Amino acid sequence: CGIIGYIGDRKACEVIVKGLKRLEYRGYDSVGVVTEENGKLYIKKGVGSVDEVTERLKLLDMPGKRGVGHTRWATHGVPNDINAHPQKDCTGKIALVHNGIIENFAELKKELVEKGHTFESDTDTEVIAHLIEEELKSSENFEEALRKALLKLKGSFALGIVYTEEPDRLYFVRNESPLVLGIGEGENFAASDVPAFLEYTNRVVFLDDMEYAVVTKESWVVKRLETGEEVEKEVKTIDWTL
Ligand code: GLU
Repeated sequence: CGIIGYIGDRKACEVIVKGLKRLEYRGYDSVGVVTEENGKLYIKKGVGSVDEVTERLKLLDMPGKRGVGHTRWATHGVPNDINAHPQKDCTGKIALVHNGIIENFAELKKELVEKGHTFESDTDTEVIAHLIEEELKSSENFEEALRKALLKLKGSFALGIVYTEEPDRLYFVRNESPLVLGIGEGENFAASDVPAFLEYTNRVVFLDDMEYAVVTKESWVVKRLETGEEVEKEVKTIDWTL
């Protein structure tokens, strides 16, 4: 399973599909991509290999210069097109991809259903999108809602998140599932593993557990989930070749 995210001036779908190919070695059953352009999310996802899904769903025709892609190894919910990631909230403004397992998803889902949320998939992942949506109702901004929601999760999660109302950025989160930022010039990347973006940059920042990154095309910052405080991170240069 794997995650790749991109924000910059390139066609996001091209960077994402290439990145997903480089992450295939991790194993998966389904593939999905979300890109964003002019406040609209484009989501395509389905069961199959990266090549099959790219061809069948025309992933390389997706518009937008930011987005995230995912290869899924199903843990909750059978491998099918609906359970493939990205998963969304009810408003359709939040889309996210997830590697890992949310251990308390059943309780969270029950509470959210009681509050009126409707769910499309059988995944543990979908609760994360609805939980952020719910926290947004009592938060100053998306980042605060994200932190409050994620602090309610028990389990492992690497996440890539797109929010339509904040068109200049992507969010990435790590807890017990790998995630690394790739720092470019006027563009930035994130992935489960360095080879996913090594073609574009060899400058990387490894996230630690319970850290999240706010990434724009020109900037990046890493913060603690518990406090929202900024963490100083070292940019490392990787000298492997692909
Ligand atoms: N637990 C999630 C699911 O089953 C994510 C699986 C993964 O890591 O790919 O959808």
